[in-house]
Amino acid sequence: ITFEQLGLSREILQAVADEGYATPTAIQAEAIPVILAGRDVMASAQTGTGKTAGFTLPLLHRLQGVANTSVSPAKHPVRALIMAPTRELAIQIDESVRKYGKYLPLKVAAIYGGVNMLPQTQSLRNGVEILVATPGRLLDHIEQKVVNFSKTEILVLDEADRMLDMGFLPDIKRVMALLPQQRQSLLFSATFSLEIRRLADSLLKNPVKIEV
Ligand code: AMP
Repeated sequence: ITFEQLGLSREILQAVADEGYATPTAIQAEAIPVILAGRDVMASAQTGTGKTAGFTLPLLHRLQGVANTSVSPAKHPVRALIMAPTRELAIQIDESVRKYGKYLPLKVAAIYGGVNMLPQTQSLRNGVEILVATPGRLLDHIEQKVVNFSKTEILVLDEADRMLDMGFLPDIKRVMALLPQQRQSLLFSATFSLEIRRLADSLLKNPVKIEV
């Protein structure tokens, strides 16, 4: 199967071609059509399998349909929230979203701990459509009331098992409670413990299970 056959837009295919990717990886071939169809996903995939593009490419495709460059920046609501356990992973995901979305008018920001909050607050105030965040710092910004999730359509939890290992379950639950009920949720995890399956049950609606 080719990227073209997966039904991604021209802008996204061009960005993928720029990266030199010849064919989709296994997780991409499985996950992309399912995510494009709007289904929830519970995927087991290790780092190195291409999972980041596996959720980022269809996420960009779903958001671009109604991307609107004419609205003022502050009116760009958070439409997709991607949560990751660590600053390093959040930065990597942010870079991937920028790469694959470079031909689309979508604004991206990454917020994580260990650095000054002010520049992050500024970018949130300027408007962000795709927000990549670690749970603790995200809650700090939520308390400052600079994040609005009323228009959030897609939630991604990446490396969910690591987030639970790091004790982020209460934080994740607090964030989840702020998101619209009607949304698409994608959960990626290397392992599926009882805890992860419980989280998946509370988070996902009739998910498609993908294992690679
Ligand atoms: P990930 O598992 O998302 O961390 O991705 C691992 C690496 O694979 C990254 O460096 C990507 O740039 C690369 N990659 C992702 N998708 C493909 C693809 N379809 N073909 C070749 N390389 C890819």
